[in-house]
Amino acid sequence: MRSISIFGATGSIGESTFDLIMRGGGPEAYRTVALTGARNIPRLAEMARALRAEVAVTAHEECLPALRDALAGSGIECAAGAAAIAEAADRPADWVMSAIVGAAGLVPGLRALRHGGTLALANKESLVTAGPLLLATAARYGATLLPVDSEHSAVFQALVGEDKSAVERVIITASGGPFRSFTLEQMQSITPAQAVKHPNWSMGQRISIDSASMFNKALELIETREFFGFDPDQIEVITHPQSIIHAMVGFCDGGIMAHLGPADMRHAIGFALHWPNRGDVPVERLDLAQLASLDFEAPDPARFPALRLARDVMAMRGLSGAAFNAAKEIALDGFIAEELSFLGMAEVVETTLSQLSRQNSLQIDATTLEDVLNMDHLARETAASAVKSWQQGK
Ligand code: NAD
Ligand code: MG
Repeated sequence: MRSISIFGATGSIGESTFDLIMRGGGPEAYRTVALTGARNIPRLAEMARALRAEVAVTAHEECLPALRDALAGSGIECAAGAAAIAEAADRPADWVMSAIVGAAGLVPGLRALRHGGTLALANKESLVTAGPLLLATAARYGATLLPVDSEHSAVFQALVGEDKSAVERVIITASGGPFRSFTLEQMQSITPAQAVKHPNWSMGQRISIDSASMFNKALELIETREFFGFDPDQIEVITHPQSIIHAMVGFCDGGIMAHLGPADMRHAIGFALHWPNRGDVPVERLDLAQLASLDFEAPDPARFPALRLARDVMAMRGLSGAAFNAAKEIALDGFIAEELSFLGMAEVVETTLSQLSRQNSLQIDATTLEDVLNMDHLARETAASAVKSWQQGK
């Protein structure tokens, strides 16, 4: 029986993963080792009971009594805190879903790789923060790292059987989000409630806002570079409002392989679950006649400066990805708390990167966890003071 763990089980990706596992036979077909979540204890307990998990872990110590109550009599172990999540990743499982949001997903992912199984990586922040470390850890322990981000799953699928040296370009698509046709003027007053409403995808709050600002696409540019190793100038972003084509790979003979699929993450999750085979995945089938047209346009760098910042990071490498992601997380917190405007997020990230770059802090390679975590910490502090300065200058 295949063993699995889901980190971030109660989130949007976690729920979709749970759905596929349940449809695939649930506890009769899979042995579930660990499920983790944060504050949604009733749902975490319900999932743990449904899958008869060995252990359920909440990120928050204060939620442990509620988790214990909810799992009383089930025989399922309970634990709490970041260290307990990392320990849960030490328990071997054949297939692990990494779907915690933010840099908090890095350590559990690294620890899970040490068993040499498969890590299905939805947590793009860990690749942006510590791509070289993650890839080296996978190689060292003979683990398989599979992309779950829809664009990266699409690139991966388009590359099956291809010689990577024949690849000329990789094009990832962006929906453009809810503000695709807003003017710069209109973008000054965007609220968190507006930003969280994605036109095509149903996702967690943070990635939805990142999609609206195109910080998500910025992370994905860096993710493409780190995961596949293409040069930055080979990687393009195109706005495609229908979100039907997720990515395209262009080859040296001028041909382009495009990957099409519905805007349902269960396709990419199912691909990673069944890899190297293909399994049935219950997503809606595309009706091309009904779709009728697929549109494309170049993203506007003036309204979406995150893309330019990602290009800077791809050129700099070193610890700049760790700094970029951490600063973005702080800026996002600031926007959600209404301390920072929508466009202010990019200003804070840019200020943070240029301050750290002036101090020559970004040049070290992201190859040790200590260096990465130190940079994550430093960039969070730098970004937090940039948020304060932004407010004072308002
Ligand atoms: P979400 O907010 O819906 O869920 C996040 C999960 O992480 C929850 O289970 C939550 O309990 C847990 N969590 C939050 N903070 C934590 C912390 N500090 N420590 C431990 N656990 C914590 O997010 P999501 O939309 O499911 O996204 C998860 C990851 O997948 C992100 O990295 C995101 O970028 C990526 N991703 C998501 C989608 C999507 O469609 N939702 C698509 C591509 C990639
Ligand atoms: Mg994506």
